[in-house]
Amino acid sequence: MSIISLSSGASCWRGLDYYKNKKINNLKQINNYEFTSTAIGTNNYDIYLDVSHPRRSTCTCPLADGKRIICKHIVATFFTAFPEEAKKFEEEQERLQNEYEDYQEKLYNKTQRYISSMTKKELIDELSYILDYAPDWVYNDFVRRNDI
Ligand SMILES: [Zn+2]
Repeated sequence: MSIISLSSGASCWRGLDYYKNKKINNLKQINNYEFTSTAIGTNNYDIYLDVSHPRRSTCTCPLADGKRIICKHIVATFFTAFPEEAKKFEEEQERLQNEYEDYQEKLYNKTQRYISSMTKKELIDELSYILDYAPDWVYNDFVRRNDI
């Protein structure tokens, strides 16, 4: 497991932000896998990063201190030590976002085509079904917009 796959999405994004804003200071490489650094902010935190055993990484911030949590400071240290990983992470997120948008667009077009092909009875049945199961605000909005 990698630092990225073990941390939450929020920690990855905030870590990327920290990295881009150069909030990681005193990066020291102990060997190929271990690093230490300091995160600079309102409070400063000490980070120990072990990329070969990510769960052994530590940070003195309130979220991660004494827990096996990969916080934004650890992620930011990882990106500072391996800038190409930050680039990879951003490119991968962009690819996923584009893939998602393509999927949504195709699904929307497919749905529009399907609706156009439905008979009046099918449309009545489907709309009745949707209104029966929709949250109250959807039903109330339908009533209000159609002046029922
Ligand atoms: Zn932290």
